Amino acid sequence: MINRMVEFWKHLLEVSRYDPEQDLDRWREQLFTIIYPLALVVGLALCALTIHDAFASDAYLATILAVTVYGIAMTVMALRRIPVRIRMGIGLMIFFSSVFFQSSPVVGYLSLFSLPPLIALLVSFNAAISALVANTILFTLLSYHFLHYDLDIIHFGVDSMERWVLYGIVFLFLDLIITLCFGLLTKGLAQIITLEREARRALNEKERHLEEANARLANEALQREHMKETLSETERKAIFYISHDRLTNLPNRDSFIQRLGVEIMKARNRGQLFAAMAIGIDKFKHINSIYGTPGGDAILAGLAERLRGIVRDHDVVGRFGDDRFMVLFSDIARVEDTLNVVQKVWEAVERPFQIVGQEVRISASMGLCFFPLDAKSPEELVKNAETAMFAVKESGGGAHRFFDEKLNTDMTERVTIERMLRDAVTRDEFVPYFQPKVDRYGYLLGMESLIRWNSSNGLIMPSHFIPIAEQNGSIVDIGERILYHSCRQNRAWQDDGFVPKKVSVNLSPFEFRHPDLIRRIRDTIEKSGLDPMWLELEITESGIVRNEKDAIVKLTELHEMGVTLSIDDFGTGYSSLSKLKDYPLDTLKIDKTFIDNLPTDKRAVTIVTSLIKLAHNLGFKVVAEGVERPEQLEFLILLGCDQFQGYLFSKPLTADEFESRLQRQVIMS
Ligand code: C2E
Ligand code: CA
Ligand code: CA
Repeated sequence: MINRMVEFWKHLLEVSRYDPEQDLDRWREQLFTIIYPLALVVGLALCALTIHDAFASDAYLATILAVTVYGIAMTVMALRRIPVRIRMGIGLMIFFSSVFFQSSPVVGYLSLFSLPPLIALLVSFNAAISALVANTILFTLLSYHFLHYDLDIIHFGVDSMERWVLYGIVFLFLDLIITLCFGLLTKGLAQIITLEREARRALNEKERHLEEANARLANEALQREHMKETLSETERKAIFYISHDRLTNLPNRDSFIQRLGVEIMKARNRGQLFAAMAIGIDKFKHINSIYGTPGGDAILAGLAERLRGIVRDHDVVGRFGDDRFMVLFSDIARVEDTLNVVQKVWEAVERPFQIVGQEVRISASMGLCFFPLDAKSPEELVKNAETAMFAVKESGGGAHRFFDEKLNTDMTERVTIERMLRDAVTRDEFVPYFQPKVDRYGYLLGMESLIRWNSSNGLIMPSHFIPIAEQNGSIVDIGERILYHSCRQNRAWQDDGFVPKKVSVNLSPFEFRHPDLIRRIRDTIEKSGLDPMWLELEITESGIVRNEKDAIVKLTELHEMGVTLSIDDFGTGYSSLSKLKDYPLDTLKIDKTFIDNLPTDKRAVTIVTSLIKLAHNLGFKVVAEGVERPEQLEFLILLGCDQFQGYLFSKPLTADEFESRLQRQVIMS
């Protein structure tokens, strides 16, 4: 019981956290000043009615006195101008004096009733209001009780001290409960009002800021306008000449370095990356001596114009010397992204110039460095870009390199592949290799088509060019070619009388996301003449998960076409099997990384076991890829895996090599 009461009080404290001394709230203040005297009047009237009988006895003087003191005290407490401490002191006085005058139970009750508002005031404003309302209600109840049962209040108290105490405690307790309920209510209201007010305040603040900013901008624009007007034409020209190169109208070295400084500040604030590219025309002296200075100038001006044409608005092109330029490529997401602009610069340099009716071709050396990776200051950036550029010049020119050595090797390879990829699609240099898929007895069930690039530099594996093709978008055309060749080859085998098998073709997530995917696939299959039932498409988890709605539509359309669908590299992504049940998939390929560690690694065993079980429950066929050792196969057979693929049976083979396996039907017995 005591614990409960303590809890109640704690709660009361909690609900009444808003203190007007700190958080002066006009709404609550008004409520307090209106309700408090009102309640006081009602309470006192009822009180007077109840103690009507007291006038007949000796105790009436004490009663009147107590009621008066109570009334005055409550009024004083209601006056917000009087500091809270004084109000609390008065409350305490009522309490102690009523205890002192305990000869009258009425005074005792009054002292009880003065207790909650007093304590409440100690706690907070809300609580005081709550206690007040509680008092009013209790007074009403009490009055009703006494009047109704016609009890003589004075004699009642004098006669039975125990009952008096008991009633007192009960009423006090009721008082607390009502106080608490009302406290909760007012707190809720107060919170809503406070929140709304804060939101409004924040909004006003924002609006004010905006207005200020607008005003500032307008002011600045005005000032600039004014400055423009005051700067005379000649002054402006002078400034331009000082900071720009006459021939090309590009910013000169000093001005460019200044721009670099600004860019560094911007990039640092926003955590961005940018590049500086030094460009030097190779053997410019020769050009000058052959075509004369006017010819050389025409080339410089022409190149400047082309460079300005390929950069974005916020990029800067500057002229750094006789035959040297510098370009600032701002806001680059990744280092690889510069490869595109490097390519554009190359095209600008390599396109022939017309000099006095003659076609002149030039070459250039380029050096790139990045802020903040390679340099931290404008001067350092310029120096490092030029160092890289001079390194190219020393090794004969006509190339570009990155200041960072490691980056240089990676990027060079990338650029070479990217350049070669462009022609590879038109030259149709991609061929499918086929890797058998077998059942537990080694019987050939189908084959996975794996792309190889038959380039002039030899056979290139997919891991070297697929990521690049995905990034520059050529994967869509490459994928279409390989799908065509795979289907065409499969159809050819069927025409030659081999037992028909299903061919599985990989679909990159980038291809899968292509909006025109379905039409392209349908056309390609049709062109190849293969019945779609002999085609399976392998899609990785990531390809599906990224955009689930789109994926479901596409997969359903493919399925309706009659194509089987397989989820590749399962286990490496984040999707759960239960999610996959919503897609029209047929097969699940467990990723090689899990198969590698079978059957010794406990974790792999657990994962593969549960994957197979779950997949079967959901109605998927399961293929294990990368099976290399007999013990892996045995274990997978034990687990009930349906199909197997891996070096244990065969590496990916050329179409001719694969044909001999088709004849045999059994890959390994
Ligand atoms: P993937 O789809 O997971 O293909 C399986 C890869 O594992 C193939 O590598 C295959 O040669 C290799 N492999 C198969 N069995 C074993 C084995 O027992 N041991 C080992 N160590 N490796 C095995 P590959 O041909 O280099 O292909 C690599 C990835 O390139 C493929 O992974 C696939 O994601 C992608 N790829 C291949 N062909 C195509 C294609 O036509 N289109 C697209 N978009 N991607 C393709
Ligand atoms: Ca695959
Ligand atoms: Ca795979």
